[in-house]
Amino acid sequence: MTEESTTVVILGGTGDLALRKLVPALFTLACKGHLPQGLRVVAFARRDYSDDRYREYMWNGAREIGGLAARRDEWEMFAGNMYYVSGDIDDPHSFDRLKHRLDGLDKGEDGTSNRLYYLSVAPRLFETAVKNIAAAGLANEDNGWRRAVIEKPFGHDLESAQKLNRAVQEVFDEHQVYRIDHYLGKETVQNLLVFRFANAIFEPIWNRNYIDNVQITVAESVSVGDRGGYYDQSGVVRDMVQNHLLQLLTLVAMEPPNVADSESLRNKKVEVMQAIRRPDRGELLRSAVRGQYEGYLGEDGVGEDSMTPTYAAMRLFVDNWRWRDVPFYLRTGKAMADKVSEIVIQFQKPPHSLFQRGPTVDMSSNVLGICLQPDEGVHMKFQVKVPGQGMEMETMDMAFHYDSGFQEESIPEAYERLLQDALAGDASLFIRKDHIEEAWKIVDPLLEAWSDERSTADAPLHAYRPGSWGPTAADDLLSRDGRTWQHVCGSHEANGA
Ligand code: NAP
Repeated sequence: MTEESTTVVILGGTGDLALRKLVPALFTLACKGHLPQGLRVVAFARRDYSDDRYREYMWNGAREIGGLAARRDEWEMFAGNMYYVSGDIDDPHSFDRLKHRLDGLDKGEDGTSNRLYYLSVAPRLFETAVKNIAAAGLANEDNGWRRAVIEKPFGHDLESAQKLNRAVQEVFDEHQVYRIDHYLGKETVQNLLVFRFANAIFEPIWNRNYIDNVQITVAESVSVGDRGGYYDQSGVVRDMVQNHLLQLLTLVAMEPPNVADSESLRNKKVEVMQAIRRPDRGELLRSAVRGQYEGYLGEDGVGEDSMTPTYAAMRLFVDNWRWRDVPFYLRTGKAMADKVSEIVIQFQKPPHSLFQRGPTVDMSSNVLGICLQPDEGVHMKFQVKVPGQGMEMETMDMAFHYDSGFQEESIPEAYERLLQDALAGDASLFIRKDHIEEAWKIVDPLLEAWSDERSTADAPLHAYRPGSWGPTAADDLLSRDGRTWQHVCGSHEANGA
């Protein structure tokens, strides 16, 4: 790896994300030899810690994660390069102190000093953090590159996202900005690109001529837990649809880029977003279902008459040559029957049945399931003849599982891949400014329509039982089109919700 001096500065270095994800990911990368040599981590937060106190805090908090506990010796070496600066994002002088500390740590090096600023603080602090980084001269690239990783959520609507983009771009050029959607760091999500663009057999059928519909499910079995205060302001569309589900949709629907560099990939993804149909208000409300799990109103931090949806299902269309009139059904929710993320491609039924006489028997279509979690892998459902007389058919499953296919290698954590890419300057798996703004342009009209009192009759907030697959109205959304939700991955071998 490069010999240049590099520092990851975690603003919010004592928080939950730093403790559970960022520091364990950096440590794992260090153990694998995937980090620039001598990489330093400087954590910045308000509490009054010394370097040693911070190292101890991290060890105590993170040692149960990612097998840290068994690697005490390696941890000691890694933690020796970890430092702590106490300061307040709102206080410009704190950034002068941060600069002083960073400059001091860089002393004696070869003159280069690259810095990755990771904004792992509440979104309301993003703008101030960027402004104060610049005011302290910490964004100057005189002696090395400067990059900023920005956590989600990136804005809460189009206007706030544009405002944040403007504030960030007063300090950093777009090529220095790495907006995170950790879903893109997942191995199985990246496999979607390989699956589509490294296998010649799928591309000819990957279009409206062969595909009947696409279903994307990201279900969480947990309720909002202690995040009620945040969640009640946000809701499921901002929390999941605007980012993760639309990301998955773009990966399924995008055209092949000529090369796999970050700009080419991201151009193709943005083209998909721009092609998503924008229906009028009536059609928008008919094409979406919102739900709230029973008991949500009793969660800590949730308003007593909150109308915040914890479940959403919707039908979108991508109006281009490849996808015209193929519905993309999206659904996601909290407190659902299982934790599962899957993409189901349902192919068209055979045009003619050779094997039945008399009344038409419903022929099953081929179904391709791309399982993101759990059961990471790919399933293909196809018809086989049941042994014996006659021509009875049954649907069988041809499956590839990551855990059996790659027994030696464990699937890396999303944050490992993303941190490594940001350090290497590869922004392919990060969200570009125009993508984030397009995503808000898609969900804002729905959020506005739902917040309008008049919409309650057209688009009621359906209650659903925790541990179920959401409101039955979401099944109706598909049955009106003559379709049903499909489960392919994990424990739900059976179809139907
Ligand atoms: P958190 O646990 O509340 O941590 C916030 C961090 O910011 C703490 O280190 C806190 O430490 C510091 N902080 C707060 N106010 C500050 C100030 N004025 N000046 C300096 N430091 C300040 O939040 P989190 O869960 O780690 O989330 C961080 C970011 O990641 C958020 O944008 C969140 O939306 C995003 N995110 C988190 C997760 C997750 O799994 N946790 C997942 C996806 C996205 P002090 O109190 O010591 O100052």
